[in-house]
Amino acid sequence: MAIRKIRVDGDEVLEKVCRPIEHVTPRIRILAKDMLETMYDAYGVGLAAPQVGILRRMCVIDVTGENPYIMINPVITETSGEQTGDEGCLSIPGKVGTVTRPDHVKVTYYDLDMKEHELEAEGLLARACCHEIEHLDGILYKTHVNGPLRNVSDSVGEFEEIDEE
Ligand code: ZN
Repeated sequence: MAIRKIRVDGDEVLEKVCRPIEHVTPRIRILAKDMLETMYDAYGVGLAAPQVGILRRMCVIDVTGENPYIMINPVITETSGEQTGDEGCLSIPGKVGTVTRPDHVKVTYYDLDMKEHELEAEGLLARACCHEIEHLDGILYKTHVNGPLRNVSDSVGEFEEIDEE
């Protein structure tokens, strides 16, 4: 496993649409493990393949630190409710912005054995799914932030709550 370089806003790779993964090759397996390691190293809760320069439809998410998801070709099939809160991105370091997202989502995705799964997510996990899956279509959260991005001193984590006690 290895920590990969996280691409930052301004890098064209973050604005491209990623290709689906048809077969899980050894390179894809290594990429998945590296993405998890890179995400944990950066104190993030999600990371998408284009953030490490790979234009394939895969992301990793772990909002609790002990329940990692590796999602291949993820698709949001249902949304409901609404949540408004602060969101950040490892590719826009030191910034946070307020984004309204669905509070519940259903996601279908494939695992590393290309077995299909359906995840029902709510709250932070739903937010992370929306954020990471958008990366696969070249969309950064800053495009639908309410108001300006704000600076977060000494914050490097995605979705870090700035008013946490
Ligand atoms: Zn992001």
